[in-house]
Amino acid sequence: MKMWALDPLAHRPGGTLHLGWKELKAALAPLFKVRERVGYDIEIMLDGHGFFQWPAAMRIAEVMRDIRPLWMEDVLRTDNMDALKKFRDEAGVPIAVSEMLTVRDDYRQILEKGGADYIMIDPTWVGGISETRRITEMAIPYNIPVTMHDCTGPLTLLAGVQVGIANHNVVFQESVRAHLRVAYKQLIDTDIVVENGAIPAPLRPGIGAAWRPELFSENAPSYRATVWKS
Ligand SMILES: [Mg+2]
Repeated sequence: MKMWALDPLAHRPGGTLHLGWKELKAALAPLFKVRERVGYDIEIMLDGHGFFQWPAAMRIAEVMRDIRPLWMEDVLRTDNMDALKKFRDEAGVPIAVSEMLTVRDDYRQILEKGGADYIMIDPTWVGGISETRRITEMAIPYNIPVTMHDCTGPLTLLAGVQVGIANHNVVFQESVRAHLRVAYKQLIDTDIVVENGAIPAPLRPGIGAAWRPELFSENAPSYRATVWKS
């Protein structure tokens, strides 16, 4: 279970610069409650969405050590690979980097610097399923497993699933219940179902789904045509 419990703090004025202990512990209380309720039957992750500056990030890491998370992700922005490496060295919890990287060479740099315990890829943001496969394979000699991002649409999710099926170095595929149960059903002609914590391999040809044809009808509420005139 991944949570992004700190977004409300980050959205306050100055919230990315300083986090008081009291408010930080209150914001992370849901993670502690999950850990207390189910023990170590599940893994817990925190996503910081790249909001925080160094002092706040170090406080987050200090509190998160007691959770024993699978990973923390994007507590810092991903602009500086040396800062990410330093954070991994000092955080005291595993670090995932990051769907915010969109260029293969950025992944090479973070792998070479030893700045990540997990590589997270958004198959659309890096440029497609082939580039996702290349980055996934690039991580193998560094002994760093790959996890796939979900939040940019059902075909991105299914691209991650396909690479995960085809490559032994993919350890997790992210999914978001609200997307699977509501949004994605309205976009593709197949239900993506999670069974016992796994998405079964699609059996049909191609990526495993197609856009719903009615999305491209002129009568669709969101239909919009753009015409290029040279
Ligand atoms: Mg994320």
